[in-house]
Amino acid sequence: SQAMRDDVLDLIRELPPEIGLLLDKIKETADHLGIQAYLVGGFVRDLFLRKSSQDLDVVVEGDSNSFANQLIEVVEVHKVVQHHQFGTVKITFRDGTHLDIAGSRWEEYDFPGALPTIEESNLKEDLFRRDFTVNAMALCLNANRFGEVVDFYGGLRDLQQGEIRFLHNLSFIEDPTRMIRAVRFACRYHFKIAKVTREAINTALQANVLLKISKERFTEELMLILPEQAYQKMVRELAAFGLMKNWFGREFAWNLAESEEEVKDWDLEKKWLGLLISLENDEIRAVLDRLAFTKSMLKHTLDYVAVRSKLRAAGDCPQEGYAALFGVKEGIVDLLKKHEDLRPLIESYQQALQNLKMTIRGSDLLAAGIPEGPEIGRILQDIHLAWLTGKISDFEEERNYLLQILKRNSEGSTK
Ligand code: ATP
Repeated sequence: SQAMRDDVLDLIRELPPEIGLLLDKIKETADHLGIQAYLVGGFVRDLFLRKSSQDLDVVVEGDSNSFANQLIEVVEVHKVVQHHQFGTVKITFRDGTHLDIAGSRWEEYDFPGALPTIEESNLKEDLFRRDFTVNAMALCLNANRFGEVVDFYGGLRDLQQGEIRFLHNLSFIEDPTRMIRAVRFACRYHFKIAKVTREAINTALQANVLLKISKERFTEELMLILPEQAYQKMVRELAAFGLMKNWFGREFAWNLAESEEEVKDWDLEKKWLGLLISLENDEIRAVLDRLAFTKSMLKHTLDYVAVRSKLRAAGDCPQEGYAALFGVKEGIVDLLKKHEDLRPLIESYQQALQNLKMTIRGSDLLAAGIPEGPEIGRILQDIHLAWLTGKISDFEEERNYLLQILKRNSEGSTK
């Protein structure tokens, strides 16, 4: 309706100016080429929820490459990547906006007179392949219909009711990762998963569809959950569906006691390791085998496991524990403290760090003839650790320790 379209136009006017400008350019390009262009998916959903998003998905009638080529004539882009096998083009802008353009083969059905309905039915099919009604709305961008909402599946109603609803019964059988997405969207927007949809998830789970999710797909979904503010709620909800034990070996007491406020500043690494508190080291290694992490996430996790082992092994020799903790990020040390058995050792480490009387500074090393560079940092660390572990306990010992290092260094460099 016109009233609806006016509301949408108001929402579009409230968007950041650079996005408004981009939508105008897409409109002009589509009109110039005489084809239909629609904004689809998450951006449309978030527009109605008044949440700003920098990820735009556009579906155009015909070939995405020709459209993109026309568009980049009139907008200033940062990067353009064409994915020929998917028929999509990804454009990045300097302000961080991403635009995905997907083509469709509507033109195959293009014959005079029949175009509007045929074209609509193909858009309808495109939207039907999506995950949830709230993600399956489109906004027309052509001038004569700019801001017109295309909502075949009741997405607006579900947005208003706050429900995540599938598009058809076989949705989760077709793509089981949608079960995880359902939980993510529901928790993010404080929505409910619609009753039929919840039932379909349970039916799919009984049919063991989880086994169809590859390592890569699960890891991708996991990496989409970790940055979310409500990630703890999501994990709890996933566990309640029985969706976690497939990867984590068993259901366990997720260590999720922290408030959303508390985890607000946690980085991905800490959020991830925070989930693993109640797992034993060999269980964590087994989890890693079921995931397809990047090298850096893998390394963070294995480092964490290694520090945990060393701390447990340190037993009566706190100095060994100190050496293991030395250089570990403060955030991770805080996580390790959540283990009752490790806490006393870590607290004494932190105490020792505070009481440290190290006096040598980088400037002293420069004065002693060490050239500027990473070597300075290494030597300072070495002395720091020697204080911590009791190898040095006063200034004289500190000086002697440094002299030894310098001597070793000069012998090393004359060889
Ligand atoms: P987010 O705000 O998390 O980025 P999004 O909805 O933009 O959410 P994307 O993963 O970028 O999510 O996907 C864009 C659109 O593609 C979705 O809105 C949805 O319509 C569709 N989509 C994504 N994943 C699936 C899937 N597994 N099955 C069906 N449709 C999907």
